[in-house]
Amino acid sequence: MLSAMAKPGRDLTAVFDQISAIGSQPGAGVTRLAASAEDGAARDAFARWMEGGGARIVHDEVGNQFACFEWAGKNVPWIFAGSHLDTQPRGGRFDGTLGVLAAGSAALDLHEEIRTGQFKPSRNLAVLNWTNEEGARFQPSLTGSSVFSGALPLHEALGLQDGSSISLREALAAIGVDGDGSAVPPRPEAYVELHVEQGRKLIEAGRQIGIVEGTWAARKIAVRWIGRAAHTGPTPMSDRRDALLAAAQGITAFETLIAARHPQLHRSAARIVIEPNSPNVVVERATVWFELRGLDVEELNAAGRAVLAAFELAAANTGTRIELVADTLRAPANMDPRMMKIVDGAARGCDFIPLIMRSVAGHDAVALQNSGIPCALLFVPSADGVAHHPDEFTKQEDVAAGLMVLRAALRDLVQRGYHAG
Ligand SMILES: [Zn+2]
Repeated sequence: MLSAMAKPGRDLTAVFDQISAIGSQPGAGVTRLAASAEDGAARDAFARWMEGGGARIVHDEVGNQFACFEWAGKNVPWIFAGSHLDTQPRGGRFDGTLGVLAAGSAALDLHEEIRTGQFKPSRNLAVLNWTNEEGARFQPSLTGSSVFSGALPLHEALGLQDGSSISLREALAAIGVDGDGSAVPPRPEAYVELHVEQGRKLIEAGRQIGIVEGTWAARKIAVRWIGRAAHTGPTPMSDRRDALLAAAQGITAFETLIAARHPQLHRSAARIVIEPNSPNVVVERATVWFELRGLDVEELNAAGRAVLAAFELAAANTGTRIELVADTLRAPANMDPRMMKIVDGAARGCDFIPLIMRSVAGHDAVALQNSGIPCALLFVPSADGVAHHPDEFTKQEDVAAGLMVLRAALRDLVQRGYHAG
């Protein structure tokens, strides 16, 4: 009955299915890398949906997409809500996409409430699709939100190159996203993001709504071992300087060391690039991307020092040398207490008892919060905690719960603003 009454433009399920199909392959999930043709198609579908509901679409120079509802007029503060439409290769349907589309759906509902005089807005609202949150095609991740918040210079972001040496600037131009930044709303008064949990805490606690109080820190280290290319046949064993062997020793040492000394840290070596990558050439260059995540920055620093020493040892053992490609620390974020209170009030007003929790993963809300924009991050359950995999799934009733709380929080913010919260 409910769905028969809902206006088609506000139907979250229909637009979610439409956008989930873009970049989807049977059995292989969704591949919608940032600024790819698929990302372009998803951006277009999102824009059409929002424009159909009365929004004005603008882009900034890094391709962040804003669906603007100027309800309260010029020169009044803005509230932002959203997430990202890009995915990992063979990713899931819910990560990011749910947050953008739920915010869009909530905005269309509020638009209708305002049009029919159900409440008077004192703030404008923009629904956001941030560029390259995933960091799959271009590193670092959280690119669009980091540029918007001022942590990443625009020219650096546009100059980032993918694995085929295509820059983000070129990739955005290729899909027709060439925003000049004019008519983009200013820094918002507050930002709300709905995201899938990517863990099991909500399901274990039997809750449908999580409110994130803060995130873990992440140390991301990329190292390159450099040996010497040589024929894999005749080259005497004693002459070889094999960069892949060094990387293998480095990865094994990393795993053993962190497991023994820092078992509470989450660790991964998840990407390797070897050159020239031919079966008949001893590997000259092997680049590996490592990650350590934890709550305690001191511990991440100690662990980082220890693994760098282990990587040096792997180089010494194999006659290779080592180059540090990247070594960054993303500080743990604490979400804004007043925003936590606002979304808590919204959740309780919808009869949910939220779980206060920490996020291991980074999200656009973290980039914005770290720049001083008051942010709230809401979680809904992920079946079995599965994330970055085609099986990623959030039940219909949990999606509905998240949408209801997001809409209530945005209604409150648009009506009363952040300071009255
Ligand atoms: Zn995400």
